[in-house]
Amino acid sequence: MSKLYSFKYKLDNGYTLVISINEKGINNIKKEYLYIFILLGIICFLLCLAFSLNHDKNKSIQQLIQQGLNKGEFIPYYQPIINSKTQQLVGCEVLVRWKRCNGEIFPPYLFIKNVENCHLIYPMTKSILQQVLTDFTQVQVDDNFCASINVTPQQLENPQFMAECINIIESQKTHCPNIALEVTERMKFTDIDKAKSVMTHLSDYGIKLKLDDAGTGFGGFSYLQTLPLDTIKIDKMFIDTIGTNDMKRDILKAIINFGHETNLEMIAEGVETQQQVDYLAKKNVHIIQGYLYAQPMPFCKFKRYIKQFSYN
Ligand code: C2E
Ligand code: CA
Ligand code: CA
Repeated sequence: MSKLYSFKYKLDNGYTLVISINEKGINNIKKEYLYIFILLGIICFLLCLAFSLNHDKNKSIQQLIQQGLNKGEFIPYYQPIINSKTQQLVGCEVLVRWKRCNGEIFPPYLFIKNVENCHLIYPMTKSILQQVLTDFTQVQVDDNFCASINVTPQQLENPQFMAECINIIESQKTHCPNIALEVTERMKFTDIDKAKSVMTHLSDYGIKLKLDDAGTGFGGFSYLQTLPLDTIKIDKMFIDTIGTNDMKRDILKAIINFGHETNLEMIAEGVETQQQVDYLAKKNVHIIQGYLYAQPMPFCKFKRYIKQFSYN
């Protein structure tokens, strides 16, 4: 007969709980614990494996991007910005593409988040700025023409980085088009005061500042009142509501009214139809970017595109 172990617990109201267990029962419990430990061990091992694989994957993406940067594979594409009233070219947005050595061209949604996550957005933006300035030594544009480059809020909060950008512009001052930086409202500034101070410095230097994707993100009208912005870019999401019953039509109206009241320049983005251009013209918004006029294109094509305008 196996030994019996008893445990007594005094409960309220004078009751006593007695738990009895023999050696076989104890051995069963030990076995259960062993299984649990083995299971936990397997889970820990799998988690470590998944973590290290993810780490390796991130590392290899980072290495790929770094190699792409070293080989100059990140190149600017240019999308024209047109004044619908005068039909003149007033500027362009610079949009990065990754041109791999086999000639394949990747759009930004496939890599830009990774570039930002591994902080390689800093060298990438500087490389793009440098290429834009070099490209524009080959063409003649109007004095008011403005080439607009995308930056992240974190880049705009970084005085060191912005000083480096100004140095790049300074080194190529003759034949340099007006440069604007556009920052998306979709990502948050971490230090708005720092951003304001850096942006004020940039603005004093003559760089225009645009709020991209206005109405879609974090800052809203508070950014517009705090930061020294010149322009708001009205997102395609709102332009798409023109001629529809979509509720966001009212937001489009509110953005346009706000732009006029505060004397901010407005650029309508993602314009694809003449109906949209006509509606915007009625609301006194004439600066248009969208496939209706042209898609982003490499410099060799943009160079020919520029030639059709009168200042050549
Ligand atoms: P974004 O800054 O809002 O740029 C506008 C996007 O809308 C571009 O996409 C452009 O090709 C597209 N687009 C313009 N007009 C039309 C239109 O009429 N119809 C449609 N369907 N699309 C239109 P893209 O070039 O693929 O760029 C996507 C995003 O990648 C950009 O959005 C921007 O957030 C980011 N990005 C691009 N270049 C850079 C860069 O150099 N630095 C950073 N940080 N982000 C960049
Ligand atoms: Ca943009
Ligand atoms: Ca945009």
